[in-house]
Amino acid sequence: MKLYLFICALIATILICPFLIAGESDMVWKKIRKQESNVKAYEGRPHGTIQVSRQYLKAGSKGPLFVVQKHDARQLHYDFRLEVDGVLKSWAIPKGPSMNPAVKRLAVPTDDHPLGYADFEGVIPEGEYGAGIVMVWDIGTYENIKRRSGQIVSMKQCYKDGRIEVFLNGKKLTGGFALIRTVRSKNETPYWLLIKMRDEYASAYRSILARQPKSALTGRTLKQIAADVKKVRTSKKVKKIKKTKSVKKTKRVKKARKG
Ligand code: MN
Repeated sequence: MKLYLFICALIATILICPFLIAGESDMVWKKIRKQESNVKAYEGRPHGTIQVSRQYLKAGSKGPLFVVQKHDARQLHYDFRLEVDGVLKSWAIPKGPSMNPAVKRLAVPTDDHPLGYADFEGVIPEGEYGAGIVMVWDIGTYENIKRRSGQIVSMKQCYKDGRIEVFLNGKKLTGGFALIRTVRSKNETPYWLLIKMRDEYASAYRSILARQPKSALTGRTLKQIAADVKKVRTSKKVKKIKKTKSVKKTKRVKKARKG
């Protein structure tokens, strides 16, 4: 009887849960989470490898990777990713990172991405998962600086605790950043905040996003990335059409010869 009640309660909780977290303010990040929650879709897609990614980094920089991808999907956002134990732990940040310690940016946790995705820049076609333009806005290495009684806490533990502190060595982002998991009320799904830590790199002067909007890898804008991809796709199509035409022509010639 007890087991029966327990199962009933469990089913009821599962059914009610989506309604509890579906508050109006959650809509934006629910949408983003849905968009980012099918990592399988990325597999098999042409993307770089971790070796390729390393070549873009500042000379001599060591440590695990971090990347910020500007993603012009249904809703423009920035995907913040940290290499932890062979995968990219990921957060979608609707407003992007800030260098101002007074600014807290909502960071929606999304699925882990494969390491090779770190240097993916291009266009995910319409109708496919995550459709839109992807730019590597910043890339570099990071150092875990979270300490507890003088000892460095492992990234795995930091993630579990919901308290991450990293020093970023990027082309644009430099200095300490904290990612803090928090909850607004008991029944809501936890969310994270990305906050610039107070150090010599912090700055309240103008948005770094507006000041440096282009790709850290190729210097291209979102528009240029889209245009380049379109060019490649069109030239491939033209080649394909030419090929079919020439095949038809040969067949015709052969037929004519036979006739
Ligand atoms: Mn995204």
